[in-house]
Amino acid sequence: MNTSIYCPEEIKSFIDDGAIFYVSHSGGKDSQAMYALIQEVVPDEQIVVVRADLGEVEWQGVQDHIFENTEHKVWVVKAKKDFLEMVEKRGKWPSAAYRQCTSDLKRGPIFKFIRNDLKERGATIAINCMGLRAQESSSRAKKKPLSYNKMQSCNNRVIRHVYDWLPIFHFTTEEVFQSIRGAGQEPFWAYSKNERLSCVFCIMGCVNDLRHGAEQRPELYKRYVELEKQIGHTMFMKGKQPISLEEHVGIKIS
Ligand code: SF4
Repeated sequence: MNTSIYCPEEIKSFIDDGAIFYVSHSGGKDSQAMYALIQEVVPDEQIVVVRADLGEVEWQGVQDHIFENTEHKVWVVKAKKDFLEMVEKRGKWPSAAYRQCTSDLKRGPIFKFIRNDLKERGATIAINCMGLRAQESSSRAKKKPLSYNKMQSCNNRVIRHVYDWLPIFHFTTEEVFQSIRGAGQEPFWAYSKNERLSCVFCIMGCVNDLRHGAEQRPELYKRYVELEKQIGHTMFMKGKQPISLEEHVGIKIS
């Protein structure tokens, strides 16, 4: 089993040039493995850990899990709106093709933090480190493990170069868990039943994970079910037909 991260020569040059490596940490297994492995190649003082807090829609205890398994200070950022408010206002759930949840609640606040932090440090190169893996989906498999982020970079009066780096892009799920164990850590407890983490009821979650979420967080499940009814739009489809969360998960709310 190969648990070496993708670390091309460019990354080594960025380290020498004083780049700051912003490690996005969701508390999920991929972030946890990535952080542990990045520490082996990037000097401590060039690592900054940042987490986007999604509040009540996440698994409870996930933030403590990050704190407990991180040697660096964890910078917690939060969007002004929250997930359920966003859905209610738009009258629609996000979808795989339109992941407003990721862009507005995670990516946006994290990039805002990166821009400000980089400026405060007087540094000019930011490496946005994410635990995405090719194995997760066919669209993710098409990504490049190191790319220049044009949108977040600027070259006018302010000089800022931002790169997106996916150090564990080639890892299998088994290699991810192996890396966590190799760092002497345990993954978050919900993985005893779950495949994925982050939101308890993820728009891309499998039935098994959603059911586990409904068992663990019945009150939150009820809110999702009721919000579906209120806005008249469902999180999931069965073929081309909408299917309610209750029907999809197979647990009726009382
Ligand atoms: S975990 Fe799922 S629902 Fe939550 S922000 Fe990410 S994609 Fe959206």
